Amino acid sequence: MAIHEDVLVIGGGIAGTTAALAAAETGAQVRLVTHKKSTLRQASGLIDVLGYAPDVDGPVSDPFAAIESLPEGHPYQLLGETAIRGGLTVFDEAVGEAYEGSHTDTNALLTTSGGAIKPTSRYPTSTAAGLVSDDRAMLIVGFRSLTDFDGELVADHLAAAGVPFSVDGVEIEVPGSYRADSRVTRIANALDLNKDLDYEGRALPAREAFAEVIKPHLGDADRVGLPAVLGDDHADEVRADLERHLGAAVFELPMGPPSYPGLRLEDILFDALDEAGVRLSDGNPAVGYEADGDAIDAIIVDQMNKEVPYSAEQVVLATGGLVGKGIDSDREGVREPVFDCHVPHPDDRYDWFVDDAFGEHPFAKFGVQIDEACKPLDGDGVPEFSNLRAAGGVVGGVDRTAEKSKSGVSLATGYVAGTAAGEAI
Ligand SMILES: Cc1cc2nc3c(=O)[nH]c(=O)nc-3n(C[C@H](O)[C@H](O)[C@H](O)COP(=O)(O)OP(=O)(O)OC[C@H]3O[C@@H](n4cnc5c(N)ncnc54)[C@H](O)[C@@H]3O)c2cc1C
Repeated sequence: MAIHEDVLVIGGGIAGTTAALAAAETGAQVRLVTHKKSTLRQASGLIDVLGYAPDVDGPVSDPFAAIESLPEGHPYQLLGETAIRGGLTVFDEAVGEAYEGSHTDTNALLTTSGGAIKPTSRYPTSTAAGLVSDDRAMLIVGFRSLTDFDGELVADHLAAAGVPFSVDGVEIEVPGSYRADSRVTRIANALDLNKDLDYEGRALPAREAFAEVIKPHLGDADRVGLPAVLGDDHADEVRADLERHLGAAVFELPMGPPSYPGLRLEDILFDALDEAGVRLSDGNPAVGYEADGDAIDAIIVDQMNKEVPYSAEQVVLATGGLVGKGIDSDREGVREPVFDCHVPHPDDRYDWFVDDAFGEHPFAKFGVQIDEACKPLDGDGVPEFSNLRAAGGVVGGVDRTAEKSKSGVSLATGYVAGTAAGEAI
């Protein structure tokens, strides 16, 4: 039997899940179709709304107050403060106590694994004791076998940034032995299961063994930062046990892939979809569409080389940007591959970049142009389709990496696109 939905969302990242949850809240019947579950395995799990803005020196304190300084055509300028607040509300309801930051509009400043200080709006509870506004003495512990994270270097960077607390760093040899190709997951797994590990010739449960190795370096520290590998399914218990053994607060610093904070967020968001009654089809890409005039009738999903139509009244495109493959580029130009929506870009490839590696690269803003209802626009500024909306990384006009607004833009556009799609039923 053909699949037919009120609202079909394409893409399972933060934008797609937000759009699906917002649409479900209107009472619409929603299906989310996604190729891979999400890109959160690579992401930090932090939710940045706006960290830097033109005309604001240093990190933005209040993202809402900084919206007016953003350039024309920026999604926040188009959609306004209510869109950001709406997206954050959907997010906060989905994640519950797993995240902090909802008590204030002001950005939190958080310690990152590179030693930089990051302005962010929502952060996993596991990272909360790493706030830079907290004046408790800090110890950063790196694991020698995890070469992407150097505890001493992180501490040096923080001290050089003039943080208002004392900070030391140390590299330790972790108890137990782990296969080189999968150390991150094996360490997380050992802590999750609290397996017995060898510590100085005796068997100790993993959490206690890790604490014993850290203890001699604790000094006056009231809080200890560790790479974000502190368990998966039982992360809260792992942290609580480490805190009990160490007598200090413990926090995680998000690292590169595989990112446990990202994976935990992915689980939470997909549980929320399930609870909201959103149907899920994952593992296959949308490759095209069928339309009647300017209205999309169905999207075509490639199911093991078989083209299967999924029909819907309303469609939300949330396939990500250049990283998620929602925007594609080759020698011919830049394109949006599912609906072939217009993606403004210079014809000459040399104009996509600037010479300065840290300069304002035009490619960073590539994506579909939207109107106030998140409808993608053609080259003449007319909606491409009457029932298509776009959200997240696929939307252009914003350098989300430079301004640290990646997830905020996904939440705001996902909220508007999902709500409007649901209300159009
Ligand atoms: C390495 C990394 C670090 C990050 N760090 C931060 C951070 O510190 N703070 C922050 O706020 N944000 C961060 N982000 C951004 C954030 O995780 C999201 O990637 C961003 O908000 C964009 O979300 P999205 O849902 O639009 O796209 P994506 O997350 O890219 O998701 C797109 C989804 O669409 C699916 N898809 C693509 N094409 C198709 C198709 N044809 N058919 C079906 N499905 C398709 C993909 O499989 C994927 O599930 C980071 C991202 C990455 C990759």
